[in-house]
Amino acid sequence: MQCLRCGTELEHLSDEEIQLGHNSFLFGSFSQMLSGSLDVKIYVCPGCKKLEFYHEED
Ligand SMILES: [Zn+2]
Repeated sequence: MQCLRCGTELEHLSDEEIQLGHNSFLFGSFSQMLSGSLDVKIYVCPGCKKLEFYHEED
């Protein structure tokens, strides 16, 4: 998986469980469609430090 901005290969940073009710600034109205928490994988680009979040399906 490559960075959309600069093309550098992304590095896996961590897996996080986000509590949607406390992070509505990240997901906006999306949080109103789901309840509970969201498992995400976080990747960082070593080139430009951009963070990418991906939903991890169970
Ligand atoms: Zn980048």
